[in-house]
This record gives sequence, C-alpha cells and structure tokens, in this order.
Amino acid sequence: MSTIQKQLIDINNKISIAAKNSNRDTTSITLVAVTKGQTNIEIQHAIDAGQLIFGENYLKEALPKIETFAGKNITWHYIGPIQSNKAKAIAKNFSWVQSVDSERIAILLNQHRPKELPKLNVCIEININDEKSKAGIEPKDVINLAHKIQTLQNLKLRGLMAIPAHSTNYPEQKNTFSKLHKIFNELNEQGFYLDTLSMGMSGDFEAAISEGSTMVRIGRAIFKR
Ligand SMILES: *Cc1c(COP(=O)(O)O)cnc(C)c1O
Repeated sequence: MSTIQKQLIDINNKISIAAKNSNRDTTSITLVAVTKGQTNIEIQHAIDAGQLIFGENYLKEALPKIETFAGKNITWHYIGPIQSNKAKAIAKNFSWVQSVDSERIAILLNQHRPKELPKLNVCIEININDEKSKAGIEPKDVINLAHKIQTLQNLKLRGLMAIPAHSTNYPEQKNTFSKLHKIFNELNEQGFYLDTLSMGMSGDFEAAISEGSTMVRIGRAIFKR
C-alpha cells in the first residue's frame, strides 16, 4: 500500500470519527484532496485509493493534470485566487470554483462557462477573520454577491468557503467555523438553497466538522512524505 493510500484511509477514518462525535452522517462530508505541488504520480496514487475529487490553486499547474486524468471521472475544484485573465480557462476546465469573492469574477466565470457543460458550481469565499492580506469577501457583503450570482445562468451557487487565520487552538478554530456556519444559515433562511459549507483543512478539519462543515479540503495530511 502506498503512503498516500495509507494517509487517505487515515484521514477518511478521522473524518468518520469527527462526524460520529457530532452525531453526523459521514456521507454528509465530502473530502477534496488538495493537490497543489503534487505531480501526476501522487494524484494517481490517490485515484488508486479511490479518491476522485481534487482541488487545485493555480491554473497553470492544474491544466496539465486535468488533461492527464481526463475521462477518469475526476471532479476538479478550483480553490485558488482568480485573476480576470484566467477566468475563461477556469470556467472551461473545472466543475467547481470555491474562491469566488467578487461580482466581477462571477460575471466573467458565467460569461465563459461553455453552454454545453453543466452549470459551474460555485462557492463564495469569505474572509472570515477579517485579515488584511487574505482573499475573500467581507461577511457583510455576502448577501449582495449571493443575489448577484443567483442571476447568472451558467453558475450554480452551492455554498460558502473560508480559509481561517492559522490557529492550533481547538476552541478558537470552532469559534471561527461557527461564524461561517451562522452566515450559511442566514443565507438559507433568506431563501437560498445552499448545501455546501467548505471549511476545514489538514490542521483544523475536525473542528470544522464539529461546526457543520460539509466539505473539507485536505492537502498535507494526505500527501506528506
Ligand atoms: C492548500 C489549501 C488547502 C489544503 O491545506 P492543507 O493544510 O495542506 O490541508 C485547502 N484549501 C485551500 C484554499 C488551500 O489553498
């Protein structure tokens, strides 16, 4: 068994335990394996272990990988910063874009999503700890952007994503994730049908699951050597 396969099994077990501890069904949590910095070899190991959902941060790095594994039933999530001049290729090559944080980018993705493909699944990225240098929209602006995205025919608004400030403190991690869950609930109370709360990475996915995460994005814990 490859190291990656072992680590994937380990992460899936930990996801199940975290779900169980919160009286949640494991199947309500999707694992996105984040492959930035990984080559086709590592990705193949993960596929061999049954992982079919991957996340990438950089278009240039992602495109050759997407091409290599075309026809293998893989779902690719774009989770990195989006420059306007990359929006077209992102809209064409990914099934999901989790890092939408402006109306301008949403409009470009909508404009360039090929009509013959299913709608592009999108999440709004929120700057949940109000960090100066971080991507993501401020919580107070989320509703407006969500309404705008609803009007765009080639996009399907699925939910919210955030990358919290680094913390190794479990209660602090939970506190941040609960804020995101609250915004998620508020949107659904206002009539949005969001089903995706993308929160939790290698260092904090257990806290995220306890606060209602439906999608964890894990890189290092799967691919470390
Ligand atoms: C790199 C990255 C991850 C994975 O982080 P790990 O700490 O390696 O698990 C998740 N989400 C985003 C947006 C990332 O850029």
